[in-house]
Amino acid sequence: MDPEMRKRYEVVRVQDLVDFYAEKDVTPRCSLCESTFFNIETIDSTKGSTELSVDSDFRNQMAVCEMHGPYKTWTFYPLSCDTCGTFLNVDAEKLLKWTEEKRLKNAGEKASVGNASESEA
Ligand SMILES: [Zn+2]
Repeated sequence: MDPEMRKRYEVVRVQDLVDFYAEKDVTPRCSLCESTFFNIETIDSTKGSTELSVDSDFRNQMAVCEMHGPYKTWTFYPLSCDTCGTFLNVDAEKLLKWTEEKRLKNAGEKASVGNASESEA
């Protein structure tokens, strides 16, 4: 993977995944056993089973993987079911795009808050 691209993918944190699913109103569940506990590989390798709940305060950067198809390379964040080991692969492109838009939106909100307090002073 292109190192620049890898850097982009590595801005996504576990919390972003939690927020992503919350916005879609989806609870990630194992497709086989319906467990909501997954192991997620993170770059600082603080591994552990994490329930992907909205109030999770995990902030670790997620490790990205790739799969080579005949015409396309797929990038994904793998979640491994803590109970039965089934993998749930999250499309990294989709999640990255969503996360980057969220970051821009948050930055915009912060900037407008800053301007408001400046005009008060
Ligand atoms: Zn399972």
